[in-house]
Amino acid sequence: MDVSNGKVDWEQAGSAAADAAEAMSDSPAKEKALGRELSANLAARFGLLQDEKATRYLNLVGLSVARKSERGADGWRFGILDTAAVNAYAAPGGWVFVTRGLLKRVHNEAELAGVLAHEIAHVERRHSMKALKAGKLLEAGGKAAKAAGAKGSRLSAAAGLLIKLTDKGFSRADESDADARGMALAGAAGYAAKGLPDALEKLYGDDHEDKPLAAFGKRHPKLADRKRALDAALKTAPEKGVWNPKRFRLGLSSL
Ligand SMILES: [Zn+2]
Repeated sequence: MDVSNGKVDWEQAGSAAADAAEAMSDSPAKEKALGRELSANLAARFGLLQDEKATRYLNLVGLSVARKSERGADGWRFGILDTAAVNAYAAPGGWVFVTRGLLKRVHNEAELAGVLAHEIAHVERRHSMKALKAGKLLEAGGKAAKAAGAKGSRLSAAAGLLIKLTDKGFSRADESDADARGMALAGAAGYAAKGLPDALEKLYGDDHEDKPLAAFGKRHPKLADRKRALDAALKTAPEKGVWNPKRFRLGLSSL
């Protein structure tokens, strides 16, 4: 706020207040718009795999889990990023991506459903929006807020921050929340709840030997910590559930 000739710059004060309000407010429309920008960024960075059969199968598995979420079946999209790196991403609004490298690592449909359920849980619990809000409030007094306040670029600046946050990964608390909720969602969809912990074993691998896995480990908490919590959750999970190894092999046979 500029108070140099004894006068208050009300315009600037108003814009600072608007920035703070902007950081606090959100709507499903804004969430969707941000998710679209993040998705476009991921697709541009890695390329979207143009494999209709595999993508259709991924959507079949993803939707069967997503329809058990609080958001129901509407508005979800699942896509394959064309890279050998092993990773999975959730964008606000309902976009979920897995990499070609990740699909090569998991062994059956229950494992894939577990990974997708974890990402679906990030979206359902609005972890990105929460991180974005915290990040924006931190920046509110700084240079970044000024840039973000420039007319017309507000959403893109927020998307830029969201992209940075996405590359860093979620907080440990949000990761274990997504693990527990993901396991429950996959179980509710009829999958073996052990799919997620089994998938994680394969996704972490040994970073020293396998470069493509490094990306996954960097964005996620230590496997041992996650496994401890997941093993505890497994004790109360329903015992039965499908693995569908055959349908998995057929669905992704073109990869
Ligand atoms: Zn996660």
